[in-house]
Amino acid sequence: MRILAKYGHGMKIDCLGADALSDRLEAKRDDLVSLTQELVRIPTVNPPGQNYRDICEFLARRLERSGFTATIERAEGAPGDSDRHPRWNVVARREGASPGQCVHFNSHIDVVEVGRGWTFDPFGAELADGKIFGRGSCDMKGGLAASIIAVEAFVEACPGHPGMIEISGTADEETGGYGGVAHLAEQGRFAHVDHVIIPEPLQKDRICLGHRGVWWGEIETHGQIAHGSMPFLGDCAVRHMGAVLREMEDKLYPALALKRTDMPVVPAGARQSTMNINSLHGGQAEPPEDFTGWPSACVPDNARMIVDRRYLIEESRDEVVREIEDVLNGIARERPNFSYDLRELWSVAPTMTERDAPVVKGVAKAIRDVFGRDPDYVVSPGTYDQKHIDRIGKLDNCIAYGPGLLELAHKPDEYVVVQDMMDSAKVMGLCLMDLLTSQQKAPE
Ligand SMILES: [Zn+2]
Repeated sequence: MRILAKYGHGMKIDCLGADALSDRLEAKRDDLVSLTQELVRIPTVNPPGQNYRDICEFLARRLERSGFTATIERAEGAPGDSDRHPRWNVVARREGASPGQCVHFNSHIDVVEVGRGWTFDPFGAELADGKIFGRGSCDMKGGLAASIIAVEAFVEACPGHPGMIEISGTADEETGGYGGVAHLAEQGRFAHVDHVIIPEPLQKDRICLGHRGVWWGEIETHGQIAHGSMPFLGDCAVRHMGAVLREMEDKLYPALALKRTDMPVVPAGARQSTMNINSLHGGQAEPPEDFTGWPSACVPDNARMIVDRRYLIEESRDEVVREIEDVLNGIARERPNFSYDLRELWSVAPTMTERDAPVVKGVAKAIRDVFGRDPDYVVSPGTYDQKHIDRIGKLDNCIAYGPGLLELAHKPDEYVVVQDMMDSAKVMGLCLMDLLTSQQKAPE
């Protein structure tokens, strides 16, 4: 089966074209605002992962009204999944009039905790000054709403389109995505998909090609417990950890700062290897808040540090581990009684979609049409669900593209600008038109 018609040439495909799409979108502005508000008003805070079922049902109802078939499924047994906080996901699909390519929009439904410093109701979704305020408005319910409106406008403008459109709302992106996109990918839900757009808040005129890699590890130093008045009878694990910190400051951090990347990471400060010390624990645990006594006098026999190392496409995971082992082994050679354990907690390889990949070209063309200029190509400093689509789903024709400013994500008074959602919905709609109606599926 081959699709011969191109949009605009109007041979076989029932499609009214780009102007009709714009008109349909413009008519949906109020709908876009209320849809975003309704999504923000469902507090899907993660952890622990609240109201996932509610938001999935809301999305399923909405998309079924637009001719989609929706399924809601639980990632049973995934990390974080429990009967109290089940990990629900929704996948909605609309089949076109004839075979063709499949374009999938994936958004995460979870939001991070509220935190302090809000002047707006975090779940009120108030519209003020052309912006919608609320937790998740920017990251990324605004992007989800924009993709839904884009798809609905496209379907109205091109009711006889070929191919298939999918929209998924998935759990747990903020905590690794294992109960969300990773689960769907493991179920083979991306096997038939040709193009994936993740409407994360990367800005309406930028295309995010991928992300740096991540390596999380735990370093443990060992000591010997003794009475704190006679520390020489024990061995202080915290002092050993101090030696680790010193060596990192003297050698590792300067070395990381010298490793530059050709990946167009934004902000530019992340165009190098980085490492955050996520946490440090040594000695007695913090007492309960209502405890009014003093600590007991003990030499700590254990200290633990968790590091969050972000690495570049020019580096490998093995290199990253070796560098840390070198630091630790160097100390072990010189420092009496120094012993350590090093555990890998989590590792994700860097990924970067090629600029000539079909989905990149499709979005770039639409950005040129809407804004009259070339897009900026960027790479995210942190990972997002693209990692699972790439690694488990084996699909590298995937990008992040959506409205909103990344800098607002996770902050108090987070907002999304309505016009930005409208503009990016237009880009998504035009891109759909391009990908579905002007390309051929290879003959089976
Ligand atoms: Zn996000």
